Order: sequence, then structure tokens, then C-alpha cells
Amino acid sequence: MRVFNFSAGPAALPEAVLQRAADEMLDWRGSGMSVMEMSHRGKEFTSILRKTEADFRQLLQIPANYAVIFLQGGAMAMNALIPMNLMGIHASADYVNTGIWSSKSIEEAKKYGNVNVVASSEDEGFTYVPHQSEWRTNPEAAYLHVCSNETIGGVEYHWVPKSGDVPLVADMSSNILSCEIDVSKFAVIYGGAQKNIGPAGLTFAIVRDDLLDRAMPITPSVFHWKELAEHESMVNTPPTYSIYIAGLVFEWLIEHGGLSAMEKINARKAALLYDYLDSTAFYTSPVSQDARSRMNIPFHLHDDRLNDRFLEEAEYNGLLQLKGHRSVGGMRASIYNAMPLEGVRALVDFLRTFERKHG
Ligand SMILES: *Cc1c(COP(=O)(O)O)cnc(C)c1O
Repeated sequence: MRVFNFSAGPAALPEAVLQRAADEMLDWRGSGMSVMEMSHRGKEFTSILRKTEADFRQLLQIPANYAVIFLQGGAMAMNALIPMNLMGIHASADYVNTGIWSSKSIEEAKKYGNVNVVASSEDEGFTYVPHQSEWRTNPEAAYLHVCSNETIGGVEYHWVPKSGDVPLVADMSSNILSCEIDVSKFAVIYGGAQKNIGPAGLTFAIVRDDLLDRAMPITPSVFHWKELAEHESMVNTPPTYSIYIAGLVFEWLIEHGGLSAMEKINARKAALLYDYLDSTAFYTSPVSQDARSRMNIPFHLHDDRLNDRFLEEAEYNGLLQLKGHRSVGGMRASIYNAMPLEGVRALVDFLRTFERKHG
């Protein structure tokens, strides 16, 4: 029996995608092979990769002057690869600190150059996004880095920062493909796949052409954006099976109306949950109203001593992985694209029942 899986990542995938992968496991479309067994340079896998990239481009309406790169190492590898590819040896870069993931990006970038933290919400436990009028940005910065959705704190930008001529770089690991975005407002968009795209290990980067060739000489070839772009993500063997699953997810998204449809359903799902949390003193949501994530929703029970009981009863009801990150405590429900509305309904029903029993 399938459960409702609220994991922050690796996270639930659409059941139809898993079923299709299962059907094609031993023999991919008459090839007599599993995708896992194919040569990455053969015609079958080449067609999978090209279709995957084309569908990703279609979903996000990625302009032609942007390269799409698939690589390995996760978003945390990108924390090093962003400065390596963009900083230049003497430059400095601007970072906004809105939570644990931007803090990790900042710490890693410091190994490669000067980092200027232009704003931080640490003063209030990372529960909001600092207003852009308060950012002390440097017009000469190599780039400005933000994390568009803090997966752990549940804090999301609902606006695009203005960076002038400074390239805007965004870690979108946990809200990519959750709503429509204007890619042309960003210079680089990157993330790991395991939240809203596919299996862990696969990493994506959408890079504006003029930024492909700024890398420090020490940048490993397999992580040099220009080489990756020129070789269609195949400087070495790419994570072939993960790319194939990502491709199935993209096809599933297109069949279900693309990102405008996802945006609507995701807004409905998030509203259902936040409205309930706001309607009672039994649960509280720690995040400032205007920065609440539609993907990751942390909440607290009014009495922490009920936490273990809550998780036990939730699990008994087929609602899994609701434990909050240790740094925030309480609970967290991650409701990415693959979480159906009925999953959120089941969670809200459970919240209500649990409150009646223990309130
Ligand atoms: C999960 C996550 C990461 C880390 O991803 P890895 O693939 O584990 O390196 C970085 N940033 C954000 C916003 C995340 O959600």
C-alpha cells in the first residue's frame, strides 16, 4: 500500500511515473535493455537526454540563450561550483542569508573568495525574507545569491530580487517547477533533483550563455559549465537513470497542464494546510505570512510533549515523514508537486482529529 509521504527529500514521486519506470525496467521501448544498462552515448539514451532537456525547457520556458546542464554532486556541490565558475580570483560575491541552506552556501563560497552577506533573517530564527530595501548589495559583486525556498525553515521568496547588472543566482532545489517563473530575470538557477524532480544525485543548472566561461582555472573539467554545456552534460558519464526518471516526471507535468496548473494546485494545497493551522491555537506556523513556503510547511504543536504521539498516530494513519528538521523542531509537511490534494486533505483531517483527542 502506498502512503502519503511528506518527506522533504528525497521526496515522493508521482505514482504514474514510478509505474511507468517499473513497466519499462527490463525493456525500454523495445530496446531489450533497461535504461540503466544503456551506453550513455548510444542513440537510445541520447534520445532520452534530448527529450528530457527539451521538456525541461518547455516547462520553464527557458530562453534560447540559457544552457541547461545536468550534473552530479547535489546542490551542495553547486555551493562550490557557483563561486568556482563565477567569482573570478579577486572578486567578491553577495549572499542573502535566509536559513540553513543559504548559510551552507555562504560557508562554502568563502573558500573561493570574499563573501558579503548583504542581509540576514537570523535575528528572528530565519522566519522571514529581509526586505530588499535593506540589502547592502555591492554593484561590483560577481553575483548575488539567494535561496528561493528554504526547505528546512519553510521560507520562500514570492518575488524576484532586482540585481541590476549583477547576475542573480538562485538555489531553487525545493521549489523548481512548483510555479511559473520568469527565467530571464535570473542568471543562474540550480538545484538538486530529489525534492521536486526525481532521484537524488542528479543536479541541474540553468546558466545564461555569457556566464559559461568565467571559471577559475582550477575548476574540475566535469564541473566546468562551458565544458558541460558544449558536451551536452556528457563530459563524463551522466547519471543516466536519474535523468530518465526526471524525464518521466517532466512528461507527467506536461500531461497535467504544466506549471500554471501546478501553481494553482500547489496554492490550493498550501492554503488548505495554512488555513487550518491558523484557525487553531493547538498548532502554530512559525513563518511570517508573506514568506510562507508553498512546498515545505513547518508547524509546532502547542505542547511539544505530544510530538512523539503525533508522529506515531500520523504514521498509523499512513501519513509519513512529518518530523521537523532538528534545527527547527516540531513538524514539517513537504507538499511538492507529487503530493496530491487528497494527501493534504488527509493530513488536515488528521490534524483536526488529533487536536480533538488531545486538545
Ligand atoms: C536539499 C537542498 C540542498 C542540498 O541538496 P543536496 O542535493 O543534498 O546537495 C541545498 N539547497 C536546498 C534549498 C535544498 O533543499
